[in-house]
Amino acid sequence: MHAYDLLVVGSANADLVIGLDRRPGPGETVLGSDLMIHPGGKGANQAAAAARLGARTTLLARVGDDAYGRMLAEAQRDAGAALAGLLVGSTDTPGTVGKSGTDGAAEGKDAPTGVALITVDAAGDNSIVVSPGANARLTPDDVAAARELFEAAAVVSLQLEIPLETVAAAARAAAEHGARLVLNPSPPARLPEDVLALCDPLVLNEHEARLLLDDGQSLTADPEEWATALLALGPRSVVVTLGAEGALVAGPGVGSETTDGIGMVRVPSPRVRAVDTTGAGDAFTGALGWRLGRGDRLEDAVGYAVRVGALAVTRPGAQESYPGAEEIGAADA
Ligand code: ADP
Repeated sequence: MHAYDLLVVGSANADLVIGLDRRPGPGETVLGSDLMIHPGGKGANQAAAAARLGARTTLLARVGDDAYGRMLAEAQRDAGAALAGLLVGSTDTPGTVGKSGTDGAAEGKDAPTGVALITVDAAGDNSIVVSPGANARLTPDDVAAARELFEAAAVVSLQLEIPLETVAAAARAAAEHGARLVLNPSPPARLPEDVLALCDPLVLNEHEARLLLDDGQSLTADPEEWATALLALGPRSVVVTLGAEGALVAGPGVGSETTDGIGMVRVPSPRVRAVDTTGAGDAFTGALGWRLGRGDRLEDAVGYAVRVGALAVTRPGAQESYPGAEEIGAADA
């Protein structure tokens, strides 16, 4: 029995959002709306989504010793996630949580909490500047020191808003401890082959799929073709999220398999009125990781995750929009 259904290793950011009519040009000043501050970052979003659904979850991430770091910790706690993996400032190292006298401070680790500066114009289009801050200081050493968390986790979920070498270390630690690996390659980047080979599944949206695959040869509009090409990169399974259309699942034993054992299934999303899709993919992936940790088959876990993603888009915000288990349906409790 694992102590955690899900260990998310990734980013935690304060999202600072201002609405405006139009963006300023160089040297120009414009007036915008009141500032809105939300907990965000793909790692923190995924962990909050899973915890809110009832998963025993913890987030291995680094925040600054500042007000935004405290806000992010509080948001994790409110969602029901354990704070065992949340590293604060420069003196905190995982595996030492709850113990005193740590001397894990590495030079350069003192950094503010990561921030995303987001402007939203009248047409609803975002422009985003990310200052990674403490996220960039989450190191392979932090992963090594968090050994106990990896041992305790059924599933480890990764995204790419922390250093790639840390992602690779976390993927390998998951494999070493027998945890299943879920990886969302966002923002898209080239991953080491051995890391790709551990992904079960690689979870990505259409945009990420095109960036991962589109090195010269252009893709058709057919997600089944993308899934075939993505599987050729080496992951054990692939889930392509398709917005309002739901998701495509591809891998061994999925659906009614073809002769080579690889099957594909489309999982439709419930029809909803979307008001804000921010963080929908993170809600989807957090929910998916949890259901896999519970032992669901991949396509069943995706069936649950599309319902979570669909509910998340019916409300504004990211973490604030994430549903609790009671909203997903009694049959899934
Ligand atoms: P991302 O947020 O990473 O761009 P998607 O847009 O593919 O990813 O959305 C992820 C999931 O969120 C989808 O698989 C679906 O479950 C849900 N979702 C997103 N947009 C909608 C929508 N308009 N209607 C219903 N569900 C949606």
